[in-house]
Amino acid sequence: MKRYYDLHIHSCLSPCASDEMTPANIAGMAHIKGLSLIALTDHNAAHNLHAMANAAAEYGLIFIPGIEVNTIEEVHVLTYFAQVDEAVAFGNTLYDALPHIQNRTDIFGNQIIMDENDQFAGTLDKLLLQAVPFSVDDVVRMAKTAGGCSVPAHINRDSFSITANLGFLPPGLFHCVEVAKNLPCPDLDSNLKVLHSSDAHNLGAISEPVETLNNISNAKDFVYFVNGI
Ligand SMILES: [Zn+2]
Ligand SMILES: [Zn+2]
Repeated sequence: MKRYYDLHIHSCLSPCASDEMTPANIAGMAHIKGLSLIALTDHNAAHNLHAMANAAAEYGLIFIPGIEVNTIEEVHVLTYFAQVDEAVAFGNTLYDALPHIQNRTDIFGNQIIMDENDQFAGTLDKLLLQAVPFSVDDVVRMAKTAGGCSVPAHINRDSFSITANLGFLPPGLFHCVEVAKNLPCPDLDSNLKVLHSSDAHNLGAISEPVETLNNISNAKDFVYFVNGI
């Protein structure tokens, strides 16, 4: 079955995202737009994944729990998991490893945790827009060990991307890449799977029903798909 997807969305936990990006609002907008497969991928933390899983279920959406990791090379790598608990454990490892630099809400924005009723449940103190002390290789290995998979994010952007910051896509490390639409893209190995998601930081930016994936019925299917199984 063909499903319209958006697998790169930030909630109000990411300081750079709008405070309107609550899990219930994200799920509602995805539903209105005709999507049926979504992921939440906040920066370096997983504190809204349980709430997002609940909200997605309310709208009958298939939900992939994810985290966008900012590696020590300042490369953004999307990690996805079959289970919310796996993703939360991985997210806690990342958050704990972040340097103790406090978020400045006046500069970077709020880092809002929402509960399963879409109510304010607190904020995160450490700035999420820092690099974790793990390399791209480390993140790929750690995510796989934790039951997940990795996709280098927006590889054709000139900042925070693997091609910009490492200069190349390490051969054999990934089976799947994310390519930002409307930007030139380098020639890619034809064996690579390619995802096009929104990287939405506000509700209006969530994808229109254009990009599709086949035969993904749950998060486990997606992790298998990405891992090339
Ligand atoms: Zn990014
Ligand atoms: Zn992003």
